[in-house]
Amino acid sequence: MSSETPTGHGVEERAFQTEVQQLLHLLIHSLYTHSEIFLRELISNASDALDKVRHRALTDKGVLDADADLEISIDVSSSAKTLTLSDTGIGMTRDEVVRNIGTIAHSGSAEFLKRLAESKEQGTQEQLKLIGQFGVGFYAVFMVAERVVLTSRSADPDAEAVMWESTGDGTYTLAPADKKERGTEIKIYLRDDCSEYLDAHRLEGIIRRHSDFVGYPIKVGGKQVNNTAALWTRPRSEVTAEQYNEFYTHLTGDPEAPLAHEHVIVDVPIQFYAILYLPRQTPMPWLFNPEPKVAVHLHVRRVFIQDDCKELLPLYLRFVRGVVDCDDLPLNVSRETLQHSPVMAKVRATLVRRVLSLLEDMAKKDESQYLTFWRAYGTVLKEGVPSDTENRDRVAGLLRFPSSLEDDPTTVVSLQTYVDRMQSDQKHIYYLAGENREAIAQSPLLETFRQRGLEVLLLDEHIDEWVVNHLHKFGDKEFQAVDAADLDLGAPPRIEGVEDASREQTIELVSFLKKQLEGRVSDVKESTRLTDSPCVLVVPQGGLSQNMERLLKMTDRQFEATRRVLEINPRHAIIRNLGQVLQRDRDSAELREWAHVLVDYVLLGEGTVENPQRVTRGLQSLLEVASASRAGQGS
Ligand code: ADP
Repeated sequence: MSSETPTGHGVEERAFQTEVQQLLHLLIHSLYTHSEIFLRELISNASDALDKVRHRALTDKGVLDADADLEISIDVSSSAKTLTLSDTGIGMTRDEVVRNIGTIAHSGSAEFLKRLAESKEQGTQEQLKLIGQFGVGFYAVFMVAERVVLTSRSADPDAEAVMWESTGDGTYTLAPADKKERGTEIKIYLRDDCSEYLDAHRLEGIIRRHSDFVGYPIKVGGKQVNNTAALWTRPRSEVTAEQYNEFYTHLTGDPEAPLAHEHVIVDVPIQFYAILYLPRQTPMPWLFNPEPKVAVHLHVRRVFIQDDCKELLPLYLRFVRGVVDCDDLPLNVSRETLQHSPVMAKVRATLVRRVLSLLEDMAKKDESQYLTFWRAYGTVLKEGVPSDTENRDRVAGLLRFPSSLEDDPTTVVSLQTYVDRMQSDQKHIYYLAGENREAIAQSPLLETFRQRGLEVLLLDEHIDEWVVNHLHKFGDKEFQAVDAADLDLGAPPRIEGVEDASREQTIELVSFLKKQLEGRVSDVKESTRLTDSPCVLVVPQGGLSQNMERLLKMTDRQFEATRRVLEINPRHAIIRNLGQVLQRDRDSAELREWAHVLVDYVLLGEGTVENPQRVTRGLQSLLEVASASRAGQGS
């Protein structure tokens, strides 16, 4: 189909990348009720293009039209039913047009389409969200256009102008163009049912609503419509909630309003502005990526400098989105300078404090809103405990954990709540870590705590134990793992009608078990922490908790487990019976087998059995005895 000249600069018809075709189809057929956003998307692209040329012109005096006004114009022709949007931005070469407009530049385009198709049931809002995130804004134009003609001339003085044209049906054409000035012009031939966009008032309304904060003049029919003062430099009292939300959407593509924002205006010692947002639940692919990023953009004196500036916030706050604009950095600041800049260090310290205050305020004023935040990003925030020593106590105040006192498994409590409801003579904050809340809540280790009415935090995330170990204390209360061997809770409350095994019997059973289980456990002791279970395994001093070991084993198969201490409950029927069997026969083969069954029984409950064959052997021996005794009873 190509009528290309030998230089490769002729008229040429090309097909869109398959993903683009699918996307266009979806856009045109499912999102037309929100068609006005096409204008926001095109203006946002034009504004980015202006940012880029302004940035380039700082160091490159040779850009085309170096003195051109930086602006966006929109012109309407009612008779031709066209809308033309032009900018004096960085423009595109022929190759760039093919790359940027003919394909979805994002490498995850296939993934995007999959998600878009999946989100169909979840409704338009969900789809709009995805479209923003994956950055396919330009194609929104086909929600209103019958045909689009894009003409562009790159700021690169040697590049030739190019014309791109498409009806959005699968193919586009490219041809040389004769455009003298730098920038991009997009001529939209509106569909018959979209003639509302020929009305200048309608256009002005859309621009004020969605694009008011664009930092360049936007002119409709020659008249400037927007307020170009950067949103962040305006006094807080003059910015409406809608404007903050729209700006958030502009930055992130997320159409859902953020949970909260913080507008920072600082004069001394360093002058800078920032608007930071806490998103509601926006999926952020980089949150748990091996290469996470900080999605906050840096400007210097209103000039855009870079996306995703990792010097602006520590990684544990990587759920924050926003912009920072600093007056005290040079415009040509390099990435290396940023890394070592004392100005940046001060800006960052202030921003961290402001984000923490924002979270603290939210937690105080609106717990349910805070929990929305916590469920989405709490795991990330926890990283602040080991990584930010300076603000460790403040981060600790923001933590939430499931608790043994809460029946509703989704309820989480703060450390302050825990301390406030501690018993008067309680010195420790008790916790137990494990794989998930349900499994932890069923641990026999919690029995005595329930009986004594003591609260235990149920740490169900990988990072939790690490966090608690780093904290060591909250206020003056130390953390204490409930699976530690040296835990001393004093004698357990008596239970009516339950007899202890005789002292002597217990002592003998303990020493018998010690001998039988040598190599499997480090010690055997009488327990004061059990009520309903016969035995439990606890961690000797200096040993790693079962949970830590489980995590280490995931990365190191050779990992050698700590031998734990077996504690037996002298008031439990099984233990009393075993004591009596021992009295009768000091060398019972069954008893030797059952000693191992006791350990396996605990491991089964924990889900950490190492040797299932041994468990089956033990069970077989038990069943033989139990069934023989029943059969005997029957006869
Ligand atoms: P996104 O803007 O999210 O990257 P788009 O589909 O809207 O996705 O645009 C794709 C790319 O096309 C942009 O990243 C940019 O490189 C280029 N582009 C779009 N509009 C313009 C414009 N007006 N001037 C220069 N380049 C543009």
